Amino acid sequence: MKRIGLIGGMSWESTDLYYQQINRAVQKRLGGLHSAKIVLTSVDFAEIAELQKQGDWETAGNILAYEAKALEKADADCVLLCTNTMHKVTEQIEQAINIPFIHIADATATSIKTHNIQKIGLLGTAFTMEQDFYKSRLQDQGIDVIVPQINERKTIHEVIFNELCCGIIKEDSKQKYIDIANQLIAEGAEGIILGCTEICMLIGDVDFSVPTFDTTTIHAMAAVDFAIMS
Ligand code: GLU
Repeated sequence: MKRIGLIGGMSWESTDLYYQQINRAVQKRLGGLHSAKIVLTSVDFAEIAELQKQGDWETAGNILAYEAKALEKADADCVLLCTNTMHKVTEQIEQAINIPFIHIADATATSIKTHNIQKIGLLGTAFTMEQDFYKSRLQDQGIDVIVPQINERKTIHEVIFNELCCGIIKEDSKQKYIDIANQLIAEGAEGIILGCTEICMLIGDVDFSVPTFDTTTIHAMAAVDFAIMS
């Protein structure tokens, strides 16, 4: 079995889900007492979030590239960055290491394509919904991506940072997310990407008439496939 390297802490609430889901899947697939070989490094999210606000992606990228190198030195066979948003600095990370970087949007695109979906709704941080680094990765694979309107994007973003990343789950926020996603479905979205690793704490398949794509689980399962099958 290969060793999975995780850069976590963004937020730790979702890193916890990665750790659990990877181990559960390895145990299920291999049986007995099997568990995953994992090296985890975890950053202080307050520092990263501040750099995001300032638009200082280069410094944030340097921090994450340093963490990726640390994983490689610790004998990890691959690196996963346990957040969608910080995939904005993918290039800096990839340049720092010689082991595979398993990209969350690529894993998500593969999953969407198995459902034969052409048009998808994307929920995530404002950075993920508004900038190009994530959407273009999906669009390059022939997937048409739509996002909520500006006020709704603000709501989605604030709930992520003020509630979900702090482990707070509120019923009225859940309803707001459902209404916003249903609007995207009314606009033709054939599925909804939970494009922030904490959103799965709030909504999921049972809330909608179309499939949801939980990037946390999809990414975690891509790591398991890599560790067991490659
Ligand atoms: N975990 C979130 C994501 O997947 C937000 C945290 C961050 O901004 O990195 O985008």
